[in-house]
Amino acid sequence: MDVVGYAVHGEREKLAPLKFARRDVGAEDVAIAIEWSGVCHSDIHTGRSEWGDVMFPCVPGHEIVGRVTAVGSDVTKFSVGQQVGVGVYVDSCRECEQCRSGMSNYCAKGMIGTYNNPDREGDGYTLGGYANGIVVDHGYVVNVPESLDPAGAAPLLCAGITLYSPLKEWGAGPGKKVGIVGLGGLGHMGVKFAKALGAHVTVFSHSASKKDDALSMGADDFIVTTDETVFETHQKQFDLLINTVSAPIDLNLYLELLGLDGTLVMVGLAPEPYPIKAFSMLAQRRRIAGSMIGPVAQLQEMLDFAAEHNIVSDVEVIKADYINEAWDRVVESDVRYRFVIDASTFATT
Ligand code: NAP
Ligand code: ZN
Repeated sequence: MDVVGYAVHGEREKLAPLKFARRDVGAEDVAIAIEWSGVCHSDIHTGRSEWGDVMFPCVPGHEIVGRVTAVGSDVTKFSVGQQVGVGVYVDSCRECEQCRSGMSNYCAKGMIGTYNNPDREGDGYTLGGYANGIVVDHGYVVNVPESLDPAGAAPLLCAGITLYSPLKEWGAGPGKKVGIVGLGGLGHMGVKFAKALGAHVTVFSHSASKKDDALSMGADDFIVTTDETVFETHQKQFDLLINTVSAPIDLNLYLELLGLDGTLVMVGLAPEPYPIKAFSMLAQRRRIAGSMIGPVAQLQEMLDFAAEHNIVSDVEVIKADYINEAWDRVVESDVRYRFVIDASTFATT
């Protein structure tokens, strides 16, 4: 299957068009005409070599919504025309304990990312969703409910699940005080899901201008972190904090906000290590944890929950040739709150 997309062609290069072929549709595969493709900050970390080696040309994109155009002979769960999604990974070993227990995002051998990962056959590497088509094993494809706005649904495939999963794991719900640190693509999904789950939600942001948006998304409080006195005022008040910030921040300040047995969950992936004061952890028996996207079954659960509660991302739809500007704006925290590429515009570039 021939497709057109956008790729980073070499180190420190900008994204530019790329024509390439997807594999033939195998017995267990689903071919998808991509319609909407979200822009995640991870695409930028990867494409700009902030996390290490990149396989060029690199086609980023792991927030994919489109329609099925063909299915393999063994596929019964999906049919042609169905609206489906693909998230951050497209395969895993299927044999380790994690894979067998339905936690393939934590595959012991490492999940196979939707882009920039060696593929299962071992003779190439994966190319992602900044393109107008993809072929994916049916075990890593989910149904996207028709009631969801499809452009707004695309960011659910990464940003949505990345916040939904820890909110569920750490029991966000009625009576719990949850803080979402950073109101970007991930953070704004966290506000919407935490609210729908019944928690009291506070946003910590270094952008005072985002206050009205945060409150209209359902946040109960909005705290501007550029004034450090707020970290004293709000000490020991929170049960759960989720750090979605893409740059290094002083985690010790945030730890002080947690009450007894409170947890700070890291989902933001700044490349630099964080200095932690043991004293901040000992007090109140605090914990720091991590969380990485979510398994396929939970991805489906989250999409169904989103449909039930009418939750989609706030998106700015862009054309393919705007991707480089969009990346710069994401890094400037100037996105309200997710760029989504109209995949029909790849064909015209
Ligand atoms: P994003 O849209 O750029 O949001 C990040 C937010 O962090 C910004 O909107 C901003 O919020 C805040 N921020 C950015 N720079 C800052 C700075 N210098 N100081 C303080 N705050 C700053 O990015 P995203 O797509 O949501 O991704 C966030 C991070 O999560 C990235 O590192 C990404 O790679 C990672 N990620 C992890 C997973 C996972 O599975 N764990 C999945 C996807 C992405 P305010 O303006 O409100 O302060
Ligand atoms: Zn992502």
